[in-house]
Amino acid sequence: MADKLQKSFKCIVVGGGIAGVTCVQQLSCSLPSADMALITAGRLIKAVTNYKQVAKVLEEFQVEEQSSSVLEEKLPNLTVIHSAVIALHTQSHLVETAGGELFAYEKLCICSGARPKLLAEDKQHVLGIRDTDSVQDFQKRLAKARRIVLVGNGGIALELAYEVEGCEVIWAVKDNAIGNTFFDAGAAQFLVPSLGADKPERAAPCKRLRYTTQDAAPQTFTADRNRRGRGCGPTQAGSALGPDWHEGMILKGAEQPSRKLSVEYQCEVEQIFTCQEMLHSTAAQQAHTPDTGGTWPVYVQLTNGKTYGCDFVVSATGVTPNTQPFLTGNNFAVADDGGLRVDHHMMTSQPDVYAAGDVCSACWEHSPFWQQMRLWTQARQMGYYAARCMAAGVLSQTIELDFCFELFSHITTFFNYKVVLLGKFNAQGLASDHQLLLRCTKGQEYVKVVLQGGIGGATRWQDGGSSADRRDGLRGNL
Ligand code: FAD
Repeated sequence: MADKLQKSFKCIVVGGGIAGVTCVQQLSCSLPSADMALITAGRLIKAVTNYKQVAKVLEEFQVEEQSSSVLEEKLPNLTVIHSAVIALHTQSHLVETAGGELFAYEKLCICSGARPKLLAEDKQHVLGIRDTDSVQDFQKRLAKARRIVLVGNGGIALELAYEVEGCEVIWAVKDNAIGNTFFDAGAAQFLVPSLGADKPERAAPCKRLRYTTQDAAPQTFTADRNRRGRGCGPTQAGSALGPDWHEGMILKGAEQPSRKLSVEYQCEVEQIFTCQEMLHSTAAQQAHTPDTGGTWPVYVQLTNGKTYGCDFVVSATGVTPNTQPFLTGNNFAVADDGGLRVDHHMMTSQPDVYAAGDVCSACWEHSPFWQQMRLWTQARQMGYYAARCMAAGVLSQTIELDFCFELFSHITTFFNYKVVLLGKFNAQGLASDHQLLLRCTKGQEYVKVVLQGGIGGATRWQDGGSSADRRDGLRGNL
């Protein structure tokens, strides 16, 4: 192995998504004279831009795809290596890349993200959306589609249900309301009319630089100011998309550009049949198909007994952490959701190996107002905090759990409404003794406060103090 050793670094970070890039940026500040490497499988990296601290615990930012040279220019002690990590040798502190090279580390942070959980491995008929490549594929296939079946009830499904035009969408959700991950049935009722209404014209085009890789010249990067109809070029095993991933992209099917959406509540996918299977299988033939006539490339049988033919299925049913190359030969503790378990210092069960972002599962004792959700806010926060923990480890310093893990907070947009989520915004895990305070003005605003024992989410917090003080600070501020 020794002959393959290319270089030793003080710190290596794997993954060029938000978590990995934030981690190297912070490491570079904390350990300015230490040599560090970012090893990433994709050709572009994700950077946080226009970061704004909106309130003490609320942040807003945008995500840009950039050439890694931009990062190397800013961080002189950083080397970016574009290659996939295929193995990790925790005993000898070495990572091995697909290029057959070995790199030694003193501290390692795994930020390899996650990939869509697919309903079936049939890539021809079942699509998952994760990176620019997969969106481009989706766009291309949607352009010829008359009907798609959308499965899932998280953020991606919500965005697609709202954005897709010119193609009938059958949306299968396992819950009794849409958007269950982010809001309750009342808020869903508030949003449902937006699905049938015409979408407002976009106020202004997205002015953010978007970098694309071109097919013909895979190593050259061009800045593309929101060209309509142009997705981002192919990246290899790229990172998850940024906040405005569908902005400036045409998500239109083959029919007239109108919206036709039906929601099938409280059901999951029972089986997926190809057209051939539909013709030859007795079970498939017995399925109750609401369609009259015609054939479809694929059929989806739902647990409510209905079967829909469609051009393809979009599987938006969550993600699986990208842990595979790191697990073989090592004894990592893995959580039930498949993530690498990390403690309050973002440290995995292996010495000197940290993890942040979608790949990890936060397994410390959480504050009563925080929960892990695989979102870019948390990817940034975890990447930043992991870097501080790594630096503290190198410098033999102690470090306290970052304040951002005291209160869950996230700003996003659903159906053109700005949404701010704080604490246990959906009463997650609370006993039935909680109360809801609600203010709703049809088409304008939906405000919900969850209260338990007189404590609830509020945007105003007291400065400093212990978490108990801060909790007290929530009392009476609603
Ligand atoms: P990623 O961004 O996935 O980055 C992982 C990196 O690791 C990539 O650079 C990849 O190339 C690299 N990598 C993987 N394996 C290896 C390997 N073996 N060797 C080397 N490199 C490797 N979040 C929100 O907050 N709001 C939203 O509205 C929202 N919408 C979303 C819409 C879509 C379509 C998707 C897919 C996600 C969305 N998310 C949203 C989630 C958010 O994008 C992720 O939580 C966040 O980007 C995770 O960041 P990360 O750095 O952990 O992982």
